[in-house]
Amino acid sequence: MEIKYEYILCRYGELVLKGKNRRDFINALLRNTKAALADFKDLSYEARHDGLYIHLNGEDFFKIKPLLEKVFGFVHFSGAIACDLDIEKIAKTALYLAQNAKAKTFKVVAKRQDKRFSLNSDAINRQVAGVILRNTDLKVDVHDPDLKLYITILSDRAYIMDEKIPGAQGFPVGINGRALCFLSGGIDSPISAYLTMKKGLRVEFIHFASMPYTSKQALDKVKELAKILSVYEEEAILHIVPFTDLQLAIYEHADESYAITIMRRMMYRIGDRLAKKRHITLITNGESVGQVASQTIESLSVISSVASSLVIRPLAMMDKSEIMVLARKIGTYDTSILPYDDCCTIFEPKNPVTKPKLDKCEYYESKFDYETLIEDCLNKIETIKITNKEKDDDIF
Ligand code: ATP
Ligand code: MG
Repeated sequence: MEIKYEYILCRYGELVLKGKNRRDFINALLRNTKAALADFKDLSYEARHDGLYIHLNGEDFFKIKPLLEKVFGFVHFSGAIACDLDIEKIAKTALYLAQNAKAKTFKVVAKRQDKRFSLNSDAINRQVAGVILRNTDLKVDVHDPDLKLYITILSDRAYIMDEKIPGAQGFPVGINGRALCFLSGGIDSPISAYLTMKKGLRVEFIHFASMPYTSKQALDKVKELAKILSVYEEEAILHIVPFTDLQLAIYEHADESYAITIMRRMMYRIGDRLAKKRHITLITNGESVGQVASQTIESLSVISSVASSLVIRPLAMMDKSEIMVLARKIGTYDTSILPYDDCCTIFEPKNPVTKPKLDKCEYYESKFDYETLIEDCLNKIETIKITNKEKDDDIF
């Protein structure tokens, strides 16, 4: 039988935060949680110093759980049942949870937040365990139990829980500002966006499209990735840059071995200017040291030197296999591996330079009026909003 929980107790992450920062953290987390669970109209919320208490008021815990797992800022959360501060009632509630668990062994873990309760934690553990032993076939295992029954004693009531579900960790989205994230259709950049949001930044996406060399399917794939990622921040903003003319000019004027380096310098120039226009201070992307020729240390240094915004590469020191684990976990992998060409793959040179020289980049760039082309790209950006909710994308 499915357990009828009454509450969800959510524990805050990053507990090192103190004072005003802590209050901001809790307020942002409350706002984000309400937004993520907006479809569940009967919920009520109480943000306490020790955690966010959500009163289900009849809503279904099991429908809420997958959404709550995607809210950054919680270390863990639990379905809970509350009762009066009476050891018999506490034991009866714990027994109900034990009877509905698929377990052979258990342990009771009581914690008094209010020490005025007449029994100490040990005594609570023993009394509750005694009731469960007498009324079920479960055995106690204090080292590695199948079921842990958590009892939290507050000043006015007790909460009993049967599981700690891992939260998404990190900081509440928005608390640390905003970032512009370069989103390609690959495996890496969605993960860089995920990690950026996890650090509490609201993300706007920028995508460089080279129509008609890249297809509508390639763009749809990027939109789909933005949609998957939008659950972490309610809705995603995606800026689509028409990049073809600038790209063709690069290939006309630069040596082929430098084309990718210069193309990426142009991406950073455009990203940098868009970020400034939108009052965004941070640029992030999926570059990872050594992954391809344009991601050697020399390349990365020459490429991002054109941007004055702060640039952070969340995947810089990660292995591809580690990135893939995360992509599978958050559900972007299957979309990322769809085989549509990106602007980088279409014009891929045979021998891209691995140690580009700044003066050579500047020499090739001096051969054409890239400023006008960049301005043109910026003027023609199409910006769309994408949400995970069932409604069409809106253009604004
Ligand atoms: P993968 O290596 O899995 O194919 P990738 O697309 O991330 O993924 P690269 O093509 O090497 O790999 O690009 C490095 C980074 O540059 C990307 O992670 C992304 O942040 C950015 N980038 C590349 N192409 C584009 C694009 N068309 N639009 C926006 N950003 C891009
Ligand atoms: Mg790629």
